[in-house]
Amino acid sequence: MLLIFLKLDYNILFEKYISNFFMNEIIKNTNKLVDPFGRTVDYLRVSVTDRCDFRCTYCMAEDMQFLPKKNILSLEEIEDICRIFIKLGTRKIRLTGGEPLVRKGIMQVINNLGEEVGNSLDELTITTNGSQLEFKAEELYKAGVRRINVSLDHLDPDKFREITRWGDLEKVKRGLKRASEVGLKVKINTVAISNFNQNHLAEILAWCGEESFDMTIIEVMPMGDIGGDKRYGQYLPVSEVRKDLEKKFTLKDLPERTSGPARYVSVKETKNKLGFITPLTHNFCESCNRVRLTSTGVLYMCLGQDDNVDLKTVLREQGLNALEDAIRKAIGKKPKGHDFEISRQSRNVSINRHMSLTGG
Ligand code: SAM
Ligand code: SF4
Repeated sequence: MLLIFLKLDYNILFEKYISNFFMNEIIKNTNKLVDPFGRTVDYLRVSVTDRCDFRCTYCMAEDMQFLPKKNILSLEEIEDICRIFIKLGTRKIRLTGGEPLVRKGIMQVINNLGEEVGNSLDELTITTNGSQLEFKAEELYKAGVRRINVSLDHLDPDKFREITRWGDLEKVKRGLKRASEVGLKVKINTVAISNFNQNHLAEILAWCGEESFDMTIIEVMPMGDIGGDKRYGQYLPVSEVRKDLEKKFTLKDLPERTSGPARYVSVKETKNKLGFITPLTHNFCESCNRVRLTSTGVLYMCLGQDDNVDLKTVLREQGLNALEDAIRKAIGKKPKGHDFEISRQSRNVSINRHMSLTGG
């Protein structure tokens, strides 16, 4: 009996070994990055700095300790890693942070990578808090950026200051105006926060309609210590938000699906598009095509898991040539999905790194 059991087990193990072997061979022999679940990874998000000129209460503690410069990828290293990803089939790069546009010299990287748009890249995009847009929008457009995401959680200047701690709404609005003038397509990212903007999301949606901006509403994710036990109180399920919005707007599900976490609806009254990002109430991982590079050069295969590979050390100790192999191995570790959890018991944090490090 024991022998039969052992034999069965052996057969299963052997089959698994053979299928892994063939999967690895397929992955190695195509130029693309394909993960163990057959998902092609062609989207890279890069956090170019952990620093920011805002201190949004759901993202950072007020007294954030930032990393020393030597721990952060240099601008050249960022570009080198991006170029290897492009060689491995990446078609879209999003630069984020922290606040990407406060990193000194970042426009050079944007200009250089922008030259790939229309050739080896389909898109170069930025997620920004909008504080620098007034003066950088035009250069972004000239560099080849066509779409930007701008975070905005309230339309009342005092409330905006309260949530960002240091932000100036008028400055951001001037930046948005400039972005539209130069031809950048804007999407507003709004984090739904209980007892803060819960009753103002309709107003932001209507304003987005007037300004011809699309909008995405995001659930608070339990990432990084933000001080105290604020997070639990901030959580507002997007399903509730949708029900509230439907009292004022006609929302119609759109068949369109990006490989990203958002699900989209059209808004009849405003004629714009609204996305919902619901990492906590829905799992959106089956079509995930992205990986994230932190400002410290660590590649995370999933926003909500800890599997990672330290590309900075590979680059600094073994050189550029070793990167390709390290990236392929990393993609081989991409998990099937995340398991975010938000509860008082989990003390608000299920992933112990800030969104600003990993890049939202
Ligand atoms: N500073 C830029 C900005 O605010 O757009 C880019 C970086 S920020 C980390 C990227 C996005 O992540 C923003 O839209 C922000 O609202 C969102 N974000 C940050 N922390 C979050 C959290 N804990 N849960 C959900 N979204 C978060
Ligand atoms: Fe800065 Fe963006 Fe985080 Fe706000 S959400 S603190 S703007 S990185």
